[in-house]
Amino acid sequence: MSKVVIIGAGGVGGVVTHKCAQLPEVFSEIVLASRTEAKCKAIAAQLSRPIRTAQVDADNVPELTALLQKEQPDLVINVALPYQDLTIMDACLAAGIDYLDTANYEPLDTAKFEYKWQWAYREKFEQAGLMALLGSGFDPGATNVFTAYLAKHYFDEIHELDIIDVNGGDHGYPFATNFNPEINIREVTAECRHWENGEFVTTPAMSKKARFTCPEEVGSYNIYRMYHEELESLVINFPTLKRAQFWMSFGDSYLKHLEVLGNVGMTGIDAVEFNGQQIVPIQFLKALLPDPSTLGPRTKGKTCIGCVVKGIKDGKEKIVYLYQIKDHQDCYAEVQSQAISYTTGVPAMIGAKLMLEGKWKKPGVWNIEQFDPDPFMEDMNKYGLPWNVIELDGFNLDG
Ligand code: NDP
Repeated sequence: MSKVVIIGAGGVGGVVTHKCAQLPEVFSEIVLASRTEAKCKAIAAQLSRPIRTAQVDADNVPELTALLQKEQPDLVINVALPYQDLTIMDACLAAGIDYLDTANYEPLDTAKFEYKWQWAYREKFEQAGLMALLGSGFDPGATNVFTAYLAKHYFDEIHELDIIDVNGGDHGYPFATNFNPEINIREVTAECRHWENGEFVTTPAMSKKARFTCPEEVGSYNIYRMYHEELESLVINFPTLKRAQFWMSFGDSYLKHLEVLGNVGMTGIDAVEFNGQQIVPIQFLKALLPDPSTLGPRTKGKTCIGCVVKGIKDGKEKIVYLYQIKDHQDCYAEVQSQAISYTTGVPAMIGAKLMLEGKWKKPGVWNIEQFDPDPFMEDMNKYGLPWNVIELDGFNLDG
C-alpha cells in the first residue's frame, strides 16, 4: 500500500498513470501533477479508479517541495522532461522522498546527454537514506536490464553489445516524433558516440547505417548508429565490454524532413530574435508538430527493441539476442497511447513497483542495471511487455 506522485502528464505520464492505476494493491494512492493540470485531469478521466491531480511547476524547487511535503508520497515518478531532473531530485531531498526517472538530466542550453550531474547527487541521497533510480524507461531502462540479465544468465563475460531500437510503426504523418519532439530531435542530431576498446569514439550524427531484420516477421529496417545515454553507465557497470553501440531505425521521410529542417536552422537550440521576440527554433518547431500523445489512434505496426550481446560462456564464444516486440494498436486499446510511450511507461511503473515492494531498495543514486534484473524481467512478462531470447549463429552490422 503506497502513495506515488507522478510528475508530467505527457505521453509517458499517461501510460505510467494507467499502469499504476491497474495495480491498486501496490499503488494505493496516486497523485498526477504537471505544469498544465488540465492534462492531468484528462488522463484521470480515462481511468476506472479515482486519482487526484495537481498543478506544479517542477522547475520551481520550493513550489514542488511544498507539494511533496503536503502529499507525503513514498515515491516520486518523474516523467516530465529531462530539464526538470535536478530540480525534482532537489525537492525529493528537501521533502525526504525517493525518486525515479526515465531520462538523464540535460541542460536547456546544451544538447548533451550525460549522467555526471545526477551522479553528483550520490552522497546527498545516501546520507539522507533516500534512493534515486535513474533511467527506468525502455531505452534507457529495459535495455540496461536486458544487458544485466544476459550477463547474469547467459555469459561468464560479455564483450560486445548492440542495442537495436526499431519502430516499425507508421502514424501516417510525413514528419512527427514519437516522444517529446524537442528531446527527440536534440538526441537524433547530436554527434554519435560509441564505445570501442576502452573509450568513446565520436563520429558525425547518422553517419553509420545498417540493415536489420527483426524476428517474428516485424520486418527489415534501416538502422543508424547514434549515441544513447545508457551506453555511459553500461560500459562502467560491465567493464568487460570492448564495444557498445546503439542503433535506431528511421524512415526515409523522417530523415529527409530532419535534414531540411536542420539545414534551415529549425532544429537550433539557441534563441533567435524575431519581431522583437526571442524564439528558440526547436521550441517553435515543437509547437507546429503533432503532439506525440495524439499519435495513438493513428499509429499502426510494431516496435522491436532489444540487445544483441556477444561474449564467452564456458570458454566458448556465443551471441544472444533478447528482444521485446509491441504492437502500437494493442497499446492504444489498453491505455490510449502508442507503443513508444507505452514501452517507456510500463518499465517506469515496474521500477516504481520494485522500489515500493522493497525488492530494489538501497540509499544512493543508481542506474537500473545495478539491481538484480530477475524481478524486473518477470514483471515485464506480467504487465504487458513479454520478451524473448534467441541464440544467433552470427551477427554483423558492419556492412
Ligand atoms: P511530453 O512532452 O509528452 O510530456 C512532458 C510532460 O511534462 C508534459 O505534461 C509537460 O507539461 C510536463 N512538464 C514539462 N515541464 C514541466 C515543468 N517545469 N513542471 C511540471 N511539468 C512539466 O514528453 P513524453 O511524455 O514523451 O516524455 C516524458 C519523459 O520520458 C521525457 O523525459 C523523455 O525524455 C522520457 N522518455 C524516455 C524514454 C525511455 O525509453 N527511457 C522514451 C521516451 C521518452 P505541459 O503539458 O504543460 O507541457
